[in-house]
Amino acid sequence: MNGVHRRWNPLSKRWVLVSPHRSQRPWQGQTEAPAQHPAIDYDPACYLCPGNLRANGDRNPNYATTFSFENDFAALLPDPQPHPPPASAILRAEPEAGICRVLCYGPHHSVTMSRMTVAQIESVIQLWRREYTETAKIQWIRSIQIFENRGEMMGASNPHPHGQLWATESIPGEVVIETESQNEHWQATRHSLLADCLAEEEAAGERIVCANEHFVALVPFWAVWPFETMVLPRRHYGSVIEQTPQEDAALAAILSELTVRYDSLFDTAFPYSFGLHQSPVNSGPQDGWHFHMHFYPPLLRGSTVRKFLVGYEMLAQPQRDITPEAAALRLREAGAIR
Ligand SMILES: [Zn+2]
Ligand SMILES: [Zn+2]
Repeated sequence: MNGVHRRWNPLSKRWVLVSPHRSQRPWQGQTEAPAQHPAIDYDPACYLCPGNLRANGDRNPNYATTFSFENDFAALLPDPQPHPPPASAILRAEPEAGICRVLCYGPHHSVTMSRMTVAQIESVIQLWRREYTETAKIQWIRSIQIFENRGEMMGASNPHPHGQLWATESIPGEVVIETESQNEHWQATRHSLLADCLAEEEAAGERIVCANEHFVALVPFWAVWPFETMVLPRRHYGSVIEQTPQEDAALAAILSELTVRYDSLFDTAFPYSFGLHQSPVNSGPQDGWHFHMHFYPPLLRGSTVRKFLVGYEMLAQPQRDITPEAAALRLREAGAIR
């Protein structure tokens, strides 16, 4: 489709407006400083580097691979409270308990995912599995969100390569919608919604960025952010707990390739938020859930012009200029070698 059109996102049940003719509009608005890769291997002032002192007085061990700990400035506290009936049916509030953890990818202050070896990324995936498994043992936890904000543009407070885990007693909004859409598709067809999407994407081919035996990275048909991608396992399973060692290695390989392509695209330490979307826990059967990852990068043109989700996007629906097909082509053409 070449003209202005809108596309349906069956996973989040939202439309996105696509205006391909608009990608050449002149830009006189805000520009950003190009993001630089951190230059030093160890920063004595970094609270994540090995051996350093943290805000709560603990000293980090001299870790050699991954390292995780309870966030010293947690947004959630692990003290579930009773949920009394709400005082108002309209202005509702309820207690929320949860856990926030910090997941360091490695001891080196400058070795971000795009600069890690595939084996180092595999150890991060194994950390995700250990953290998800351990957190799911807490019976009142129902949702576990693992994510990373990379770069100042995404609000990262420290350049040391790390992700976070936030786990909550309720299931947050985005996960509620994706649970619904996947379970509805499963009940209607006995197929995974994302496996069916993947079959169509592979037949079309034009939005695939890279693929291997077990995983595919693609710009979704319904992408909102200019260079948004999804990473999908070919096999249908709900979380990294069910992933085989071969799938761990394949996920590490595709994450390495995708993040190197991102950095090469505008020759910058490409900013993004990424996250794992996994089945809720302690919440009954989740047959429709198909594990996947979303990458949401804000850059639009070069390393200095970002996409803003403002006015029309806030009030009506998201809109994009460059088509998902053009974005995928740019990412396929970007270098995949460090
Ligand atoms: Zn550091
Ligand atoms: Zn998702």
